[in-house]
Order: sequence, then structure tokens, then C-alpha cells
Amino acid sequence: TPGIRPLVAGNWKMNGTAASLAELRSIGHGFLGSLEAEAEALVCVPATLLTRAVAALDGMPVRAGGQDCHPLESGAHTGDISAEMLKDAGAGHVIVGHSERRADHGESDAAVHAKAEAAWRAGLIAVICIGETRAERESGTTMAVLSRQIAGSVPAAATHANTIIAYEPVWAIGTGLTPTPEDVAEAHAHIRAELAARIGEEARRTRILYGGSVKPSNAKELLSVANVDGALVGGASLKAKDFLGIAEAYL
Ligand code: PEP
Repeated sequence: TPGIRPLVAGNWKMNGTAASLAELRSIGHGFLGSLEAEAEALVCVPATLLTRAVAALDGMPVRAGGQDCHPLESGAHTGDISAEMLKDAGAGHVIVGHSERRADHGESDAAVHAKAEAAWRAGLIAVICIGETRAERESGTTMAVLSRQIAGSVPAAATHANTIIAYEPVWAIGTGLTPTPEDVAEAHAHIRAELAARIGEEARRTRILYGGSVKPSNAKELLSVANVDGALVGGASLKAKDFLGIAEAYL
């Protein structure tokens, strides 16, 4: 999209230990030079790795982020992590509303909305995920689902600077299946229009990432679709070779 610098973002999910930091450093090294000139990079690691990821990426053009946050700053919420804690650990971004959180932890649009506001309160950029299930796609309700998720999950104070939207069809995540470029174009144009209705002018400069089975072999086709401003990458972000292979779509 004109005026938008693309972002290639990784989501390590519940993967990664100290042994994975070498892969992260390889991603950092790989982005130095020609890739950093074309795109920004982010890897959202498990919270246990965040401080070490930030240290491993020191001086490299790749940011580290979290994968979820609690809406509150602190308190009696065993096992939860606040946006302020992620910020303190060196994160610049946090994913909120990933479909695995929505499915495994029953997160509603309202919960995701609260988490996005928590991210901003802490000074983090919120990567807000939306996307239809297979049943919704097959019943022809995809655009209505996206409209509902945007209305419910994206706070009206969202700006291009504090928010990134990730369109992730649930049926495309981890399955090897991807929508056609035409379907991606339709969804992203719809998201841009719905965002504009909600946040006005800011929508023109807000990144809309595509996520779901992105790999080096399909990256160019998916990332060259209109209104696709980068990728959110799960499985293929675990290996530097694959993650860099995806980013190379921008070279
Ligand atoms: C994701 O879960 O954000 C994702 C896009 O996963 P994958 O790339 O593995 O489909």
C-alpha cells in the first residue's frame, strides 16, 4: 500500500528455548542490509524468551514482541502477563486476539479490545488478529465476520502508529491451505474500508498483514496482493531460512 513500509512478523507460539536464540540471531543477521531497506521485522516469542530475544537481537533490525497480554497492569492473575511486563522485558509489540487465544481461551472481541488498549497503555503496538473459520467461509459470511470482529476488537482510538491488523483465516493457519489471491484481495479491501469507517484517515496508513500458511514458495504471490502490507508467519518463522525466504518477497 502506498506510504506503508511492510512488516514481516513471526509468531513462535509455544515454541522456543535457549537453543532457539541462534535461529533468532540468524534472522537478525539476515535482515541487515538489503532486507531492512525494504521491510521491518518482528518476532513474537514466548514470554520466557523475551529478555534473551531482545539481547540476542541487539543492534539488529528485528524487534521482539509478546503473543498475548492481560488487560490489567498487575494483580492477582496467576500465570498471566501484563502489557507493562512485556514492555519492561523489551517488547515493542504484542499480538492480541490470535485465533488460538480466541479458541483455546475463549477470548471474545471485547476481551481483545481490552487487551489492545492495555498494549497502548504500556506503550506497545497491538497486532490485532481477525479472521473467519472454515464454516464461516463456506457459509459465505466471511465479510460479515470481519466487520463484526473489527467493530468489536479494534478500539476507535487505533492509529497507524499503535495498531497493526492481521487477517488470518482460521482454516489457513497451520494447515498448508491458503486463500486465493482474489480472496485475500477481497478480505483486505474490506478490512481497509471497515477500518476507515471506524478510525477515518488513519486507516490508509495502518498495516494489514496476511497470516496463514505463508512460506517462501507462496510469499510473493500473497504479499503482492493489494492492501497486503506484510505477513504474520507461524510455523515458517521458527527457521531463519524460511522466515528470511518469506521476507525476500520484498527484494
Ligand atoms: C499464525 O498462527 O499466526 C500463523 C500464521 O501460523 P502458520 O504460518 O503456521 O499458518
